[in-house]
Amino acid sequence: MKIAVLRERFEGESRVAATPETVAKLIGLGATVTVEQGAGLGSRIGDAQFAEAGASIGTTTAQTVEGADIVLCVRRPAAAELAGVNRGALVIGALDPYGNETDIAALAGAGVTAVSMEFMPRITRAQVMDILSSQANLAGYQAVIEAAAVFDRAMPMMMTAAGTVRPAKAFVMGAGVAGLQAIATAKRLGAVVSATDVRPAAKEQVESLGGKFVAVEDEEFRQAETAGGYAKQMSAEYQAKQAELTAQHIAKQDIVITTALIPGRPAPRLITREMVESMAPGSVIVDLAAERGGNVELTQPGRIIEHNGVTIIGFTNVQGRIPTTASQLYARNLLSFVTTLIDAKEKKLAINWDDELVKATVLTRDGAVVHPNFQAPAAPAAPVAVAKDAPTPPSASVEVKAAPAKTGATGKPAARTAAKRAAGKAEVPAMADTPKKAEPGVEQSIPAAAEVATPLRKRAAAKKVEKLVDVAAAAKAPAVRKAAAPKKPAARKPAAPKGDK
Ligand code: NAD
Repeated sequence: MKIAVLRERFEGESRVAATPETVAKLIGLGATVTVEQGAGLGSRIGDAQFAEAGASIGTTTAQTVEGADIVLCVRRPAAAELAGVNRGALVIGALDPYGNETDIAALAGAGVTAVSMEFMPRITRAQVMDILSSQANLAGYQAVIEAAAVFDRAMPMMMTAAGTVRPAKAFVMGAGVAGLQAIATAKRLGAVVSATDVRPAAKEQVESLGGKFVAVEDEEFRQAETAGGYAKQMSAEYQAKQAELTAQHIAKQDIVITTALIPGRPAPRLITREMVESMAPGSVIVDLAAERGGNVELTQPGRIIEHNGVTIIGFTNVQGRIPTTASQLYARNLLSFVTTLIDAKEKKLAINWDDELVKATVLTRDGAVVHPNFQAPAAPAAPVAVAKDAPTPPSASVEVKAAPAKTGATGKPAARTAAKRAAGKAEVPAMADTPKKAEPGVEQSIPAAAEVATPLRKRAAAKKVEKLVDVAAAAKAPAVRKAAAPKKPAARKPAAPKGDK
């Protein structure tokens, strides 16, 4: 039983689908593991560390995947990269199938079993495999860190001999996994935090984290949550009321983090140009929904812009800006799922195709697209011409100049410095991810199996919030420590006129 770990080709993707810790555990399950050369460099994991954990290093993609029964990846690989895998091999990753049906059909045509981890049901048993939660949690944390890095003022209240500095006001829009972690992180940094959401359950979650809940709490709000806990598309009337309330609130904020999403739809537009213009110069907006079109009218996906002195950060793949931790958690998510697919005693694959986790996540099997959400375009895929060594997929169209992604040698300090520098300039390119196109017709990005009927009770909700925001903290120390990264250069801030807003 061979497991292959691919080096990511998607520009700006610095994560990797396995770590030395998970490699050792996969070997313990009876697998042999081949990691593609350089796969971990973006997350500061060298080939030697993978080798020490028991993996062999594949010098080419073809060599890495040859004879593989399972291929682990972060982004969807091109079918051509999978030449030489065993027939029916599982390709497990964040395959992002919506809007990419042709690629999925090509994977079917290549004879692999494509498994989309985003479709993992949000049930208790699968929490440990939930890549959406593990990555959104980190994105929420990192959004606040990015905002703090370009904010020209201190976050906490400071009482000094020279006088008192008031705390920053942070407003989080969308209190799902990312939003709750953003609230918790901003609170830890000492900001006065408020938050909004259209789901009533979010109110007590926000309050349990010490945030002030700001929302139009009408009848529509009381009905705004689906049985699965997701937000519904709100009516135009509600959106108008919400915009009015938001407009007054935003004008007084220093930092705004937007995370609002509706499964399968473009991100709701929550902040207009006028609202941005109502904010004081020096304020910062981080739009975590940039990849799905943005919650902010002025957001440019993949870029940092400045408008009337307000910095708008439109990074996509924000979790990829904290790659070592993101890879650590993502790899554990994958390991947990793969463990359910292996008979550890017999040391061989033993897939239960009737398992709800398998049924929910398998997109292709036996040459066909089998997932119910993709039945319509499941025309027989043309045979895929496979190359011996896979070509690098075309780069994202976003130009990358001053603020490169934190990959490989670029590393965190350089990227942060770049982000900091970028804050002083308008229109500086940031991350290089191509924005995902949300599929307008699709109501639900997760399968119906994920729906749970009972609303959360207050104590359960508070517990769940703690759990969600503490995922990263609760994670054990990585088995292999990276070499000490160079220390972050001292933050140099542009000399902007200061004074309380
Ligand atoms: P998401 O990424 O789909 O959306 C982010 C947030 O944006 C949501 O809270 C949503 O309500 C909010 N939103 C949508 N439209 C909005 C608008 N117009 N204005 C303001 N906010 C808006 O959500 P998510 O982080 O994936 O979480 C969705 C739900 O799933 C939550 O209830 C969460 O607690 C739950 N969840 C459950 C599990 C589990 O049981 N295993 C795991 C993770 C999350």
